[in-house]
Amino acid sequence: MSEPKPTTIKRLFAFSRNVCAFPQCDLPIVEDSGIVTGIVCHIKARSRGGPRYDSKQTDEERHSFENLILLCSRHSKVIDSDPKKYGVELLQEIKVIHEQKGSIELSKTEAEQAMKVLESYRLIYIAPGSEVNIGRADTIHAKTVNVGKSGKSPNIQPPTGAIASSLAHRNYAKHLVDRYHEFASDQPGRTFSYPAIYANIKKMFGAKWDLIPIESFLKLTNYLQGRIDNTRLGRINRSKGHPNYSTFDEYKTKHGYE
Ligand SMILES: [Zn+2]
Repeated sequence: MSEPKPTTIKRLFAFSRNVCAFPQCDLPIVEDSGIVTGIVCHIKARSRGGPRYDSKQTDEERHSFENLILLCSRHSKVIDSDPKKYGVELLQEIKVIHEQKGSIELSKTEAEQAMKVLESYRLIYIAPGSEVNIGRADTIHAKTVNVGKSGKSPNIQPPTGAIASSLAHRNYAKHLVDRYHEFASDQPGRTFSYPAIYANIKKMFGAKWDLIPIESFLKLTNYLQGRIDNTRLGRINRSKGHPNYSTFDEYKTKHGYE
């Protein structure tokens, strides 16, 4: 059975910066102690019957950089348990956003860590009977932001507890969406679709943007700010030290809320 090439894993590790690719998760793939807690995940599954499996893929494509994403154990479990919510396109986007920061030059230690990731891959996927050990995320999860927790019942959130129930919260979120559209539409050579961000928010947060519970407001605005910062214009502004948007407090003051 084939497996990803060591160079592919090294490249993946360099681009991951040893951090889970899931939005706002900052768990490492390899702990300082050298223990591998993250997982190499296949965007389109490595074997028939797996999540998002594509029979048209060759083995080489299946194990290519483009089809692989590094996630903490918890998020690998989260995405694989709901392939409808976490489809190929969304995962590809999560990967691209995470890798947009660029790669790090691997030190000797980091190159060794990357090889431990490959060893761990072999243990998980190839050693017989080892699959029962996948996803013991409960033992390692620490400060993960639980994006998508409300996914089970997206449509029965009472509007009173939703972002839409507070004008300041609603308008700031909308302001960020508009800013994202403004920046994202200005990327030569990249296709851009207005509805995409709304669809992604719905998938990630389990509800339409303004029906997301107000407790998740910070998560939503962090997500949107990250998207803005990662556009071409956003990156240019940041490199010059220019802010890409007002903070929520600044926005409230500027628009006379509270
Ligand atoms: Zn994670």
